This record gives sequence, structure tokens and C-alpha cells, in this order.
Amino acid sequence: MTRSFQSETDALARSLNESGLGFATRAIHHGYDPAGFSNAVQPPVFLTSTYGFESVAANEAAAALGGRLYAREYNPTTEILEQRLANLEGAEAGLVVSSGMAAFGTLILSLLSQGDELIVHRTLYANTLAMVEQAVPRFGIKAVAVDLSDPHNLDAAITERTRLVFFETPVNPLSRILDIAAIAERAHARGVKVAVDSTFGSPALQRPLEHGADIVLHSLTKYINGHGDALGGAILGDAQTLRTLHETGLRYITGAALSPMSAFLILRGLKTLTLRMERHSATALAVAQALEAHPAVTWVSYPFLDSHPDRVTARKQMSQGSGMLAFGLHAGFEGARRMMDRLNLITRAVSLGDADSLIYHPGSLTRARQPIRKDAHLADGVGEDLMRLSVGLEDANDLIADLRQALDAF
Ligand code: PLP
Repeated sequence: MTRSFQSETDALARSLNESGLGFATRAIHHGYDPAGFSNAVQPPVFLTSTYGFESVAANEAAAALGGRLYAREYNPTTEILEQRLANLEGAEAGLVVSSGMAAFGTLILSLLSQGDELIVHRTLYANTLAMVEQAVPRFGIKAVAVDLSDPHNLDAAITERTRLVFFETPVNPLSRILDIAAIAERAHARGVKVAVDSTFGSPALQRPLEHGADIVLHSLTKYINGHGDALGGAILGDAQTLRTLHETGLRYITGAALSPMSAFLILRGLKTLTLRMERHSATALAVAQALEAHPAVTWVSYPFLDSHPDRVTARKQMSQGSGMLAFGLHAGFEGARRMMDRLNLITRAVSLGDADSLIYHPGSLTRARQPIRKDAHLADGVGEDLMRLSVGLEDANDLIADLRQALDAF
């Protein structure tokens, strides 16, 4: 059963690739043939922790396939998700894990060793930053923060010990854009691999491998699932690296397997990714323009606004701007708190990429954490006034009206 399913899905994956089907079609169909699963149109959820074999030889054959013996390393539902995501990103292979942080942890702890160096962009998602600053050095890996908004800065930072350059684009929470092709070119010239966290963009809007990156990471919790009801992470790239990540990283370094139920939910969310990203992007642009026109607002950062410093790079590597924007008020830190408390429709919450619009103020949460975590601080480049808005799928007019009524009170 295991092997026949595998050969069927492999054959289907090849045929979809070769048939030149569009992105939206592949987001719905790639890697799954109902004929292999009792004609179930939706992928079944395989809730099993282990697999039984008809003979010792069959058991050995499964082991030779990369340890398809136990659910930490293998599950048919999660495998469909891996194949589909790899196809959508244009990667040879994929690995899904239990969260976006698990994806970053699996990547770093599998590919880097004591004495190696990791280069990161100076602004990162807060918990990736915490891992880079606090955990990575404990394993003897040196992490070097560089401003990659000028790719020339890489030249002085790369040493013979540098193994990986890692950055997000769009960057959380600023929605600045880093030039994937320019960074990859400079890194590759020195023999260094590049990994891009593309969570803010999703493969519907940008595919970093097409611009020269070697590895792509996602928090599946965000746009790819899109409904705020599951955690997940993914790593996509070449088959050899992914084999290492799977057979060492997932199997015995992190053990951070994705629940098959979450894989099912994420596969369901993925079916509407193309439509959702179009709507998120169109609404976010309208919201960004409305915010920019309001006198209480000092600045707005949205990649497809004419005022955005990286608008040229954004248009080069993204088809639309996504639903993420950041802004600040003349009234600064305290103003952000007051304005957010006046919102009626937009939800005050961390996370992003959901159907519901979510707003978050890193400055106040960082201050609130400092009594319990003294080293908590904002990422480089993030001001205390910054509010991050994840524009959802509600009507643009309703979102703009909610923001206006909250801003008009200033
Ligand atoms: N990468 C980015 C850009 C994120 O915004 C996040 C979470 O907000 C993560 C990674 C971590 O993902 P997760 O929350 O699924 O662990």
C-alpha cells in the first residue's frame, strides 16, 4: 500500500509538472490522485503513529526509502503537502514541520556546526531573532547581523567559515523588500548558500528559487494555511539538502513533526491561496493609500506604494504586494496604543495571513515582556511607534472605515 501510493503520487507529480498547468491548478491538485485513496476527492488524514509491514523484507525496503517506518519521518497526508509546496515553489523537494520556528531550527541545527558562521539580515521576526542572538551562539555558531538592504554589505561579512545567508523578504514587521537575486549572486560568488523566509509573500506572489535562492522557508501558519487554525512550517530546496533535513533534522535533531490533521487543514487552505493573495493584496493597497492620506499618520510602509523605498525591487520579484503593511502615527508609542484600543472590527492579535484582519504593536508587547525577559528588545530598524497590520479578507471599505474612526479621534 505504502509503495503503490508512493509510485502513484510520484507519477502524478511528474505528469502535473510536465503538463505545464498553472499555479492555481497545481495548488489544488498537485501530488494527489483520488484513485490511490478509495476515490476520496480530499486527501484522507492518516492518524497513525507507526506502520506495519507484511514481512521483514518489506520493512527493510521501507527503511531504505528514507525511514518510512514511523510517523515522525513519514505520513501520507504530510507527504502530499510536501510535494505540493515543493512544486509551487519550483523546488526539487520539501519538508513540512510543526511550525515556522521548527523550520528555522531544523534548518540551522541540521546544516551548521560548531565554528560555522551564519549571516542574517539585521531585521527579523522577533523569535527568529531571539534564536539567532541567544540559542545559535550556544552551539558555537557565530551569527552575524548585516544590513542586506545594500547587498554590497555581504562582501565584508562573508568569511571562509560562512555557511548560510538567511533573510526574510518582505521583512517582518517592516515590509521592506530585500533583493533576492542581488544577494544570491554575491553569496554564490563566495560559495555560500542563501535561504529566504518567504512567509510574508507566499509562493502565489513570489518564488525565491526563481531569483537564485537555494532554500525557501515558510511559516505555514500564515498565508499558506490562511485561516488561523493550524501551526506549520516548511523548507523547500534541492533534494540532497532536503534529504539531510528530513533524515537527520526532523528524525533526530528537532523531531518537530507536523500533525497530519494540520497537514490536512493546510492542504485545504492552500487550495484558495491564489484567490486569497489577490484579495489580500488589493485590499492592503487600498488600506495603505487611505492610511497615507490621513493627517494623523506619519509613515506607511507597503511594498507596492509609490512612496516605498524598495518599490522597484518589490515589482521585480513579487507579482503583488501581499496583505502586510506597517505604519506609525505622529502620536508615536502612546498614540499607537490609543488608536488600537479604538478599533472595532480589526482584531488586536499577533500572527498574520488570516481571513481576519489582525493588528499588532511590537513596541508595547516588547515593553510588557521586559520584566520577565530582560533581553527582550525590538529588532534593529523597528521603531516603538510601528504598528503591523495584516489586512484580511473583509471588505476594504469596512477596514478603512474602522481605521478612520480610530484615527479621526486624534
Ligand atoms: N517567519 C516569519 C516571517 C514569521 O512572521 C513567523 C511568525 O510570525 C515565523 C517565521 C514563525 O512561524 P510560526 O509562528 O509558525 O512558528
